[in-house]
Amino acid sequence: MKKYELNSLNKIELQEYLENLGEKKFRAYQLFEHIHKHKVESLDDITVFSKQLREKIKENGFLNQIKLVDTFKSQIDETQKFLFELHDGQIIETVFMSYDNRNTICVSCQVGCKMGCSFCASTKAWFKRDLTVSEITSQVYMVEKILDQNINNIVFMGIGEPLDNYDNMVKTILILNDPSGKNLSQRSMTLSTSGLADRIIDLADLNLSINLAVSFHYPFDKQRSEFMPVNKRYDIKTLLKACDYYFEKTGRRVSFEYVLVDGLNDTDAHVDKLVELFRGKNIHINLIPLNEISEFKYSASKKSNIKAFQDRLNKRGINTTLRNKKGADIEGACGQLRVNYIGEK
Ligand code: SAH
Repeated sequence: MKKYELNSLNKIELQEYLENLGEKKFRAYQLFEHIHKHKVESLDDITVFSKQLREKIKENGFLNQIKLVDTFKSQIDETQKFLFELHDGQIIETVFMSYDNRNTICVSCQVGCKMGCSFCASTKAWFKRDLTVSEITSQVYMVEKILDQNINNIVFMGIGEPLDNYDNMVKTILILNDPSGKNLSQRSMTLSTSGLADRIIDLADLNLSINLAVSFHYPFDKQRSEFMPVNKRYDIKTLLKACDYYFEKTGRRVSFEYVLVDGLNDTDAHVDKLVELFRGKNIHINLIPLNEISEFKYSASKKSNIKAFQDRLNKRGINTTLRNKKGADIEGACGQLRVNYIGEK
C-alpha cells in the first residue's frame, strides 16, 4: 500500500488521517504544527506523542525529506545557492538572497521545466517530474534551519513552471500561509509564470492575495512565440486578458518581467509596443538584464541602453524597476538554475 506523505497534507487531510487511526482532531493540529512550525524532520522528534502513537502514525505515513548535497556562496553578494537531493535521487536548486532587510528564497517547483523558453537554463530537456508539496515547503524550512534565519519573502521563481504544478502550488501557498505553521502572509509570496492564461484565471478565482509576476519579455506575438513556445498556446491578447482578470478579482497589481536582450527586445519599437499594451493599466514592469547562458547565443543589453529603455517607459507613464543581478557568479541568478548535478552535466 502506498504510504501517505504526511508533510504534503493540509490540516483537514491530516485530521482525516488521524481519525482513521482512531485519534482525536487535536492530534492533527499538533502534527501540522510540528511539521510546519517546528520543522521536524522525523516523526520520532515529535515527543508530545507517545512512542506507541508515533509507531501507529508511521504504519501508513512518513515524512518525505530532502537532503542538502551542496552549497554555493556568492563572492559578490549575500546570495547562496543550495542543492537538495530528493528521495528518488533527483536534484533541485534553491536560492537565498538577502537585501533591504528582506530574506528572500527562490524555490523550485518542478524537476526541470516543460516550457522550453530558449533563454532559460532550466529548459525542456530536463523535465523529470513535479515536486510534491513537501518538497516545495521543505526548501524553505531547510534553508531557514541551515542559515538559522527567518525567511520573510518567497518567490516561486526557481526551476519549473509553478502553474504547470497548479494543485501542489496552491496547497503549498495555503500551508505556508497557515497561522499554525510558517504563518507567512500571502502578500509576501510571489508566483512567477511564463503565461498559462487558463491557470491565471483559476488562480484569480481563488481570491488569494499573492503577487503574480508574468515573464513577458517580448511584446510582439511572433517574437514571443519564437522564444517562448507557451505563447503559441496563449497569445499576448489572451495572456493580458487573464492578467486584467487577476487584477480585477484580487486587487493585486501584476508585474511583468522583462529580460533585456541586446538588439532583440530593447529597441524603440519595443518601447512603443509596451506602451500601447500597458498604458493606463495598473501594472508594473520589472526590467532584468539577461543573464547570459551558453545555450542562448545573445548578449545582455548594454547598461546605457537599459537605462534609456527604462527612461523611455517611465516618461510615457509605465512603472518600472530594474532588478539587480544576484548571485550571478554561482549560477544563482534568474534563468541560470539548471539540473546538472549528478551525471547530467
Ligand atoms: N517558469 C516561471 C518561473 C521560473 S523562471 C516563469 O517563467 O516565470 C524565473 C524568471 O527568470 C522568469 O521571469 C524567467 O523568464 C527569467 N529568466 C529565465 N532565463 C533568464 C535569463 N537567462 N536571464 C534573466 N532572466 C531569465
